[in-house]
Amino acid sequence: MSQYIIGLTGGIGSGKTTVAHFFEKLGVEVIDADVIARQVVEPGSDGLKSIEAHFGSRVILESGALDRQKLRQIIFENEAEKTWLNRQLHPIIRTRMIAQTKAAHSTYCILAVPLLIENQLTSLVDRVLITDCKPDTQVSRASHRDNNSAEQIRQIMAAQLDRETRINYADDIIDTELPLSEVEHLCHKLHHNYLNLALNRSKN
Ligand code: ATP
Repeated sequence: MSQYIIGLTGGIGSGKTTVAHFFEKLGVEVIDADVIARQVVEPGSDGLKSIEAHFGSRVILESGALDRQKLRQIIFENEAEKTWLNRQLHPIIRTRMIAQTKAAHSTYCILAVPLLIENQLTSLVDRVLITDCKPDTQVSRASHRDNNSAEQIRQIMAAQLDRETRINYADDIIDTELPLSEVEHLCHKLHHNYLNLALNRSKN
């Protein structure tokens, strides 16, 4: 069981997935909030049932899966509906994240949550690791990867914490402007530090 939890966060396109992968290569278990957020609205889930009961069949695709695009559009246009949805899903996601960190087998684990700070989840983790690069780099990387326009990425960034505020929460920062080989090397150094911290914790 992992007694020690590193919270990994950062703005869109800042390199969270890349960094998480480097830690996974070192045998560290990564719990991904995005994966959990998809699981809690899978067909047959309580999450999807309550969404259908609230919004109606317009948010359900023919396949029975959630029409994410439709739901995104509804909550984008209506703050009250966004609040309703978050109140439904956040507690379920939080409970699963906690259960999965408790079940992790590596000496420490990583909880990767894009909105860790925005959603006030830092109390779930022992340390906050932030991936950081220039906003222009975020825009170019995220738009290349997802085929989104730069404008769409900037809109998402505007809804996230600004760079300086996020950095104030960091215990550790990985500068993802660096080449990938150097980013991986930094992950190795942090890994040794995290192993020591986790082992010292389990002695006390
Ligand atoms: P999102 O918030 O959108 O899920 P993310 O924070 O997980 O994004 P990644 O998917 O890891 O970010 O990285 C975004 C893109 O930038 C990917 O295509 C990735 O390969 C690339 N990338 C990440 N870090 C570097 C780097 N140091 N050098 C070059 N490219 C990088």
